[in-house]
Amino acid sequence: MTGDCQRCGACCVGLDVLLTDAEADRFEADPRLVALTTLHVRGGAPALRFMRRDPRTDRCVALEGPLGACRCGIYAERPALCRDFAAGSPDCLAARKRRGLPADDLTAPG
Ligand code: SF4
Ligand code: SF4
Repeated sequence: MTGDCQRCGACCVGLDVLLTDAEADRFEADPRLVALTTLHVRGGAPALRFMRRDPRTDRCVALEGPLGACRCGIYAERPALCRDFAAGSPDCLAARKRRGLPADDLTAPG
């Protein structure tokens, strides 16, 4: 996470982080990583694997520390969807707005 992201964490709360098939295979090969995920079974369709969220806080369970001073506990191994979530991008600013954080000042603490 960038410095801005460590002061924020908004995109790690309340969002569905779907793993690609290759990522699902990678996570399933590592007990530490697969424990951070959940499998969604959809009838006869192939199951989808997502990052798991804490039901009390809605935070991704890989997010460590309080919002405003947080870090991704699997930063080097995080899914592509997280890597693509660039600080300052429209999706980033929308996530910040949803969490009540300024969407025009990425230095504001969350
Ligand atoms: S919402 Fe934006 S600033 Fe906040 S953690 Fe995500 S990418 Fe970083
Ligand atoms: S894997 Fe890391 S970057 Fe992705 S949502 Fe979870 S805590 Fe955030």
